[in-house]
Amino acid sequence: MYEQNHLIHQLRAASQGRDDAVFAQIPGGGDVTFGALFAGAERMAAALAAKGLQPGDRVAVQVSKTLQAIELYLGTVMAGGIFLPLNTAYTAPEVAYFLGDATPRVVVCDPAREAETRGIAGAAEVLTLDAAGQGTLLDLAEVQGRFRAVARAEGDLAAILYTSGTTGRSKGAMLSHGNLASNSLTLRDYWQFTGADVLIHALPIFHTHGLFVATNVALFAGAQVVFLPGFDAEAILQAMPRATALMGVPTFYTRLLQDPRLDKERAANMRLFISGSAPLLVDTHEQWEARTGHRILERYGMTETNMSTSNPYEGDRRAGTVGFPLPGVEAQVMLDGAEVPVGDIGVLEVRGSNVFQGYWQMPEKTAEELRPDGWFITGDLAKIDADGYVTIVGREKDLVITGGFNVYPKEIESLIDDLPGVLESAVIGVAHPDFGEAVVAVVVAQGDGTSAEAVQVALSGQLAKFKQPKHIAIVEALPRNTMGKVQKKALREEYAGLFSA
Ligand code: AMP
Repeated sequence: MYEQNHLIHQLRAASQGRDDAVFAQIPGGGDVTFGALFAGAERMAAALAAKGLQPGDRVAVQVSKTLQAIELYLGTVMAGGIFLPLNTAYTAPEVAYFLGDATPRVVVCDPAREAETRGIAGAAEVLTLDAAGQGTLLDLAEVQGRFRAVARAEGDLAAILYTSGTTGRSKGAMLSHGNLASNSLTLRDYWQFTGADVLIHALPIFHTHGLFVATNVALFAGAQVVFLPGFDAEAILQAMPRATALMGVPTFYTRLLQDPRLDKERAANMRLFISGSAPLLVDTHEQWEARTGHRILERYGMTETNMSTSNPYEGDRRAGTVGFPLPGVEAQVMLDGAEVPVGDIGVLEVRGSNVFQGYWQMPEKTAEELRPDGWFITGDLAKIDADGYVTIVGREKDLVITGGFNVYPKEIESLIDDLPGVLESAVIGVAHPDFGEAVVAVVVAQGDGTSAEAVQVALSGQLAKFKQPKHIAIVEALPRNTMGKVQKKALREEYAGLFSA
């Protein structure tokens, strides 16, 4: 039934003949077998086809995390469509931009936002799906029968994911069947996922991490997931004794560490804790090991490239690094058109079957970031050491240029983070009349706390004068998005006027 559809065929392979095996345990909501999942996906595909979906049409989806939403993702791809998930936090004007740009055939939204969505959906069909997995989409799907997957090849698009758009307009990253299938297979094998695994799935499914890394890897392994609607420390701790793996953003780990019930005994059945999407503090890595006996495995990727590097499963997981390029992925660090010497900082480029097909209807943007020979310019500053470990130093656009000198925020943040009484910090560049930009440090205190003076004094002996912050702010918390990324843009806006007087 699925042979001709590159991604669906492979996603199904691991559970073929195991229809009665459980794919998802939904705490408080029963179990869903692989057979039921794919039958549900077929009904979704048939429902979309009934609404006129043609191969290559987009299906935009802004809904709560439910198993029906996973079936909708699989059903869209099965019907030859392109899945376009949207962050549930986006407001109507934000969604209007995505719908205008992607011109989907079908839009699926929460019933509470149906009227508003109809107002911005143009010619698209609007269907609903609520947090309980009900709505007009389900009403339509329920009366459908079996569905033969539409033929789709490796190079055909399976999804468009809009980047978070920290500079300018958000761009639609086009991901092919081959991009998604090859990366999930690589990760399954690299992290040794099998049908014996039980993965705690608490990530959102509008982002590459929860949708592709967690969901696809579990399906490719024929593994089970404990399917949680979102991050919930209580539910994760409850699930841990019968689970084997957790995929999270760093904030999952810092929050779980705050619970005294997290200990070696609770984590005894676990074999793997994975972190990504934002930098994991060395301190978090060390605390986690002390409490649970497990070394968190940190990996690195982005919407455009899927996953590119990972610390090893067997071997030395080095805190503060993102490990090695994955099998089949090449990485190079470039500066002024040439590769930098080992250990030097430059812009990270990656190449491989993981790299996307370009930005939706933005050929110029695509040409700026994707070289004709396949190298994708990530915009991340990185270094690769003599052992081959990659370290992400920050985003290129977060680089501070003060008085003509380059300052890498990470260098200063690492020093500040190591000071007593400091939890974490973010270093940004703020417009300055003399220096162009000035270094500003925003510091979160913990325990006995710290002061701007104490930080200033500690740094003065360690950093060249031009790198020392011209201003240090002590704050309660750093602004973060749902994926745990510190929002430096928001900080730059907040402190923009600091030196203007
Ligand atoms: P996104 O496209 O939303 O997945 O964001 C991708 C960006 O997140 C990358 O370009 C990096 O800047 C950052 N990122 C992802 N994983 C890591 C990591 N392990 N360490 C540091 N930064 C990361």
